[in-house]
This record gives sequence, C-alpha cells and structure tokens, in this order.
Amino acid sequence: MSLLSTENIAVQLKAPVVRAVKKGHPWVFDKGIYKQNKPGNSGDLAILYDQKRDFVGIGLFDPESPIKIRVLHRGQPTKLDTKWFQKKLDSVFQRRSELINDPQTTGYRLVSGENDGIPGLVVDRYEGTLVFKLDTVAWLPHLEALISVFKDLLDPERIVLRASRTVINSSFCPAHIKDGCVIFGEELNGPIIFRENGLRFEAEPIIGQKTGFFLDQRDNRDRVGKLSKGETVLNVFSYTGGFSLFAASNAAKSVTSLDLSQPALDAAQRNFDLNQDIINISKTPHILMRDDAFSALEELSKKSQKYGIVILDPPSFAKKQTDIPGALIAYGKLAKLGLQVLKKGGVLVSASCSARVSADDFFETVIRAAAACGRPLQVIEKTGHAVDHPVGFSEGAYLKCLFARG
Ligand code: SAH
Repeated sequence: MSLLSTENIAVQLKAPVVRAVKKGHPWVFDKGIYKQNKPGNSGDLAILYDQKRDFVGIGLFDPESPIKIRVLHRGQPTKLDTKWFQKKLDSVFQRRSELINDPQTTGYRLVSGENDGIPGLVVDRYEGTLVFKLDTVAWLPHLEALISVFKDLLDPERIVLRASRTVINSSFCPAHIKDGCVIFGEELNGPIIFRENGLRFEAEPIIGQKTGFFLDQRDNRDRVGKLSKGETVLNVFSYTGGFSLFAASNAAKSVTSLDLSQPALDAAQRNFDLNQDIINISKTPHILMRDDAFSALEELSKKSQKYGIVILDPPSFAKKQTDIPGALIAYGKLAKLGLQVLKKGGVLVSASCSARVSADDFFETVIRAAAACGRPLQVIEKTGHAVDHPVGFSEGAYLKCLFARG
C-alpha cells in the first residue's frame, strides 16, 4: 500500500497553529483544529489549510492521540507518494553519511522522528537489522509502503517493529502487530552483535530498552574513553556497559559497572567478553555491582572508596511536567553522592535524558549542588545531541551531559 492511496481529510487550523506549523512545529493538538470536513480514520492524510482555506501542509491523522496530526509536509501542495518519501529519506541519510559510511560503527539512529521531519517514526540500525519504533498507530496503514521503501533503499536483512503500549492497545492496531514482532525477514533468536567506534556490543532489539541499546550516548562514551587512561572508573546506571567498555579500551586502571538490573550487568559482562581481543579490555579488571545507585554510592562513600572518573547516566527522572522539581532535586543529590566518591580533581560525568528538564536547569543544578558540598566544579564540556539524534524542534531536545573536574 502506498501513502498515496490513503483517504484524505481536510482540516482547517487556527491562526497560531498555522504560524507554528509554517515555522516547522510538527504537531497539531485538538485545540489547534478550527474545522475538519469529516471525523477521519487513523492514518488518513490530513490536508491542512488556514482559516482562509489556503494550503498549509499535509500531516498524518491520529484520532486517538492528543497529538491529532503529525506534520509531514509544509509549503506547496504535493503528492505524498513513495517517491516523495524516498527523497525525504535521502536527505535524512545524507545528514548521517559519515556514520553510514563508517564500517567501525554499525549501530545508529537512521531516522529520528519529528527531528528529521518524519514524525512518529524512529528507525535504528544494528548491522543488517532495522528497528522501526512507532509512536503513533497512524503509521500502521502505511507499514507495507514503509517496508518497501526501506527495502529498496537499504536492502536490510530484517525489520523489527517496536511500538508503545498505546499503539498496541489501540483499536486500530491489527491483531498480528505486537511489540517486538519481525515484520520483514527471518525471526531473530538472541542478540545482534554490532560495532560502535570499533567495539563490539550486543543489542536486543526485540526485548531491550529503547530499541536495544542507548545509541544516543555514543559521542559521550567516546569522550569518556579519551579521559580514562590510567583511571579508576565508576559507571553508575551502566546498563549494558557502554561507557565501561570505552573506558577499558582506553586503558582505564579498573572499571566498575553499577546497575540495579542483573540482566543488564550480565550483558555488560558479555560485552567485555566479546572484546577480549582488544588488549586494553582484556587487561582491565571489570567489577560488577548490582545495587540501587543512591544507596550504593552512600555505601562506597562510607568506605572512603574513590574513583578518578564517576559517570552518572540515570533513566529519566521527569516523566511528566509535575515531576520536574523532584527531578532537579534528584539530579542534585546524585551529583553530590557522585562527588563523595570522586578523587579530588577527578572527572564527574553527569547526564540527563529528561526532555522536560532544560539543559540550563540541569547544568545549573549539578554545578550548584557541587558548590554547596564544597566541591566547586571546573567545567570541561557541556554536550548535547549526536549527529544521528538531531534536534528538530524544542521538545526534541532531551540529552545533556556535563563533563567537569571536581
Ligand atoms: N549509561 C547507559 C544507559 C543507562 S539507562 C548506556 O550507556 O547504555 C539507565 C539504567 O539505569 C538502566 O540500565 C536501569 O536498569 C538502571 N537503573 C534504573 N534505576 C536504577 C537505580 N535506582 N539504581 C541503579 N540503576 C538503576
């Protein structure tokens, strides 16, 4: 099925929303709609007009979501057919050409939804496997068209579908669509081994967090690696050991991976095992610690344990707007605990993936917490998004990371 054959609905938008869409905002909420010619089905193309009936753009309609329309095109009227989609993807891939052509990195984000002008659709690549992550049920009527475009452009071995509970539970979701189902190619039994900057990692696209790996931290892992020579490194919230591997490959003295999840720690150990041909990794002691980060840091501090580098990369602390004040308190507390086990002059790496917490608030909170406990920070670098995780609109910015000496 092609995008072209979809039903259309005509939607008139209120003036402020017209302005926002013209400026590039990808979402239209219910309250932004002035009039529509019919109720519309999930996946219909919404032809967007202003109140004078001038053409504004085209979006994907989702009657069940608070985001009623995700804008795919703005400007002049056009047909959203396979050719249009291919052209769009060409420019998205162009942005990542360095990664796509780098044989040392075979896991990265190919399409970053709203931020790449393809709202509601994320596509990650792990070697020959593509993982589609759908944020809206409105893509499902176009799934065959999507699979066919990606097959033509990239010739993948397989495509896995990941979808949120809202998508799977929707009355518009066909019964055969499940989170983690293989929608093209052979079934996947077990993890995929891919490379990030030359190191091998396991990814579990079907059952792992996100699409199987935290691809967004690649550049920060590389930065940690470059600071790690001869250092004792504590990787808090280590998941499958991404930061730990880069520290070890750059000749850290020892690396400790700390996480609450035993399966994540087991995978971290397997990732070390996968890279034993790299002498630095085979020589670096890797210590696994299964514990709650906050209490483990307190315990380590009581024992006067000190590290040369402490990495803090927790899960999102602010899932909704009202969580923000509590999230900032938690980031501050974590930074303080991290500093208690950091050697004087060591490097604190403090990250936040909470989209609702602004970069300024996060950096200020960490810097203030450090000053308040008598360990003023010397900022080395404040980092954000990697090339395959571009920021296309303000809500798209979520990752921030502070590198500082304490
Ligand atoms: N730094 C990782 C990604 C971290 S994801 C990487 O580079 O891949 C967040 C991790 O925090 C998950 O592995 C989760 O198991 C762990 N986690 C969540 N709550 C925790 C807690 N209270 N204490 C320790 N780990 C926790």
